Amino acid sequence: MNKILVLYRRDLRMMDHPALAAAAKDGRVICGYIKKQTLTSAHDFWTLRHVNQLKKDLNQEGLTLLMGEKSLIEQVKTWCTDYEIDAVYVNRSYLHDEITLEEELIAALKKINVDVHRFVGDVLSKPGSILTNKGEYYKVFTPFYKALRQSSILRPTPKPETYHGIKVKQGQFSVDEPAWFKKIVDKSPPGEQAAMMRLESFCEDYLSGYSHARDRPALEETSRLSVYLSIGAISPRIIYQRVMAENTLPAHVDEEKEAFIRQLMWRDFSYQQLYQHPKAETEAMRKEFDYFKWLNDEDAIDRWKKGQTGYPLIDAGMRELYETGYMHNRVRMVVASFLVKHLLVDWRIGLHYFSETLIDHDRQNNALGWQWVMGSGFDASPYFRIFNPITQAEKFDPDGSYIKRYVPELSKLEGRDLFRPFEAKVETLTKAGVTLGKDYPLPLVDHKKARQRALERYQDVKGKS
Ligand code: FAD
Repeated sequence: MNKILVLYRRDLRMMDHPALAAAAKDGRVICGYIKKQTLTSAHDFWTLRHVNQLKKDLNQEGLTLLMGEKSLIEQVKTWCTDYEIDAVYVNRSYLHDEITLEEELIAALKKINVDVHRFVGDVLSKPGSILTNKGEYYKVFTPFYKALRQSSILRPTPKPETYHGIKVKQGQFSVDEPAWFKKIVDKSPPGEQAAMMRLESFCEDYLSGYSHARDRPALEETSRLSVYLSIGAISPRIIYQRVMAENTLPAHVDEEKEAFIRQLMWRDFSYQQLYQHPKAETEAMRKEFDYFKWLNDEDAIDRWKKGQTGYPLIDAGMRELYETGYMHNRVRMVVASFLVKHLLVDWRIGLHYFSETLIDHDRQNNALGWQWVMGSGFDASPYFRIFNPITQAEKFDPDGSYIKRYVPELSKLEGRDLFRPFEAKVETLTKAGVTLGKDYPLPLVDHKKARQRALERYQDVKGKS
């Protein structure tokens, strides 16, 4: 029987894992994972928790997970030689730097007579497969979503019943997790089983109210599956199949399902967009935005990161991120818009900060999220749509419970005073125990003036290419 190495990357699961399923059919299997050389971000440490869980899950099925620390090509070549591997099976990536690495790996292994087989892993549709009638990529989400809905969405690959494992000594793999990380992930157990349970509880408890919860950060009733999707502990195809499973539900539930699936399809759209625009993590997709004159004021950036801007919704969001490694989508949009438009800070600084702090960090979704907010993506919020951080709070956190949870120094303020403490009467603030500038900061910028300044900056670059 052929000896096959299944190379794990951002697909840390056993179900709907085409590379593992094909390997189980074609020969004897051993699995490998290569650890990043330096771990810095919340997502890096989160990933390793899953790797450890995956190792236990694979062991239960008689499979070994090798842990490597060398560079990709060197490590895979070493394994292939040490264990006399005939072929490497891997779920392909859709990020161009990773695709280049895959191609280099294929070339390097060819020289030692090892084949590489690639499979379609973590998407509902292969990037490049959903095209317009003219054979072009979709630039705008809604038509992409409609076309994807009408296409035959990839089905989950069934899990093999048995595996023929290659037994070798499995090394130890321990990581010193920093205290800040241990604190933020308390709520989220790692692993595929935990991801499946999250999906199940979301479908049972929250799916029927999704379209409302989707805009209410205080509710914590969106699926929170991003933390599992980001490392591939669950596949979008399994989510899609589970959510669409029962078609006999009342019409309003069907609408809720559709609202959820539509969001899930934004993920495929991001993957497609970055596949088509490999530089979208570093360059504006609409070129005029690369001429933008940023202020990049260090103090302002620091206050944004620490949740000390003086705008309660922004501060709640940034503190939620710092304390939990997660932030509700509505608030991600508002804090990102505040950074790039109110503070005139380069979107790449925000993108980098999110990549370091989000446990659900996903390169495609993060890049597209920032390009959307900035207005520089092809299907983006227009630049002149500048979120007002006060009215956004009034609309989406009407009783202020999200703000109070993360900005407790304002918890005795209510209504208008909570959303705009800088306009509250001194007596009201005193009664609530708040001295502005001492217990809670004065606003970093004036909303109206900042809005005007942002619009003027845009006029300087509009139409440039
Ligand atoms: P749900 O509302 O339950 O949605 C289910 C799934 O659909 C999500 O898990 C996600 O995979 C997908 N999805 C939902 N909304 C979006 C969206 N707007 N774009 C793409 N996919 C979406 N998402 C990440 O997974 N990682 C990131 O690094 C990331 N960075 C972002 C940065 C900015 C500036 C913005 C505005 C958005 C970003 N998003 C990112 C998208 C979105 O905020 C999260 O996917 C969502 O908040 C995750 O929570 P959930 O799983 O409860 O979502």
